[in-house]
Amino acid sequence: MALGKDYAAQQCSIARALEVIGERWTLLVVRDAFYGVRRYNDFLVHLGAPRAVLAGRLQALIRAGVLEKRRYQESPPRDEYVLTERGLELWPTLRSLGLWGRGLPGALAVRIFRHAACGTELGAYGECPACGVGVPPAEVEMTPGPDLDPEPSDPVSRALLAPRRLLEPLEMEASRP
Ligand SMILES: [Zn+2]
Repeated sequence: MALGKDYAAQQCSIARALEVIGERWTLLVVRDAFYGVRRYNDFLVHLGAPRAVLAGRLQALIRAGVLEKRRYQESPPRDEYVLTERGLELWPTLRSLGLWGRGLPGALAVRIFRHAACGTELGAYGECPACGVGVPPAEVEMTPGPDLDPEPSDPVSRALLAPRRLLEPLEMEASRP
């Protein structure tokens, strides 16, 4: 039996969400957008996804209202991809999924996410256990965990070695063509 292309028979909001973020690479594109990656080439370099797949995923996320395209340069025209409000709402899900993944065999503690205001590591839903508040992504500090490769081969991973706030645009002009 052929696998259907969607979950049309499912009357379920989880199935509806997976129509948007359930394809391979898609949630990693969203993850990178939280890390501050905005440009096509930077997604490409960091993810290592095939070009056509990445372009398709970016377009699908725009159509779904998760990302929006912003022009940052006119000649030649260049766009960047930024999370919308709907996209930002995915942060607790990503946080939760990341912690769940740490429980898998062979999983690594690659990045640590803290409430920037107090330095406490976030809870499973992106909340700060010390302050008792949900922490918006812009107030989350991301630092390297003990298992992060200290000498990654690609420039985006190198730029992401330094502690940084989520959503802060990745600056890596030196490596651009
Ligand atoms: Zn706190």
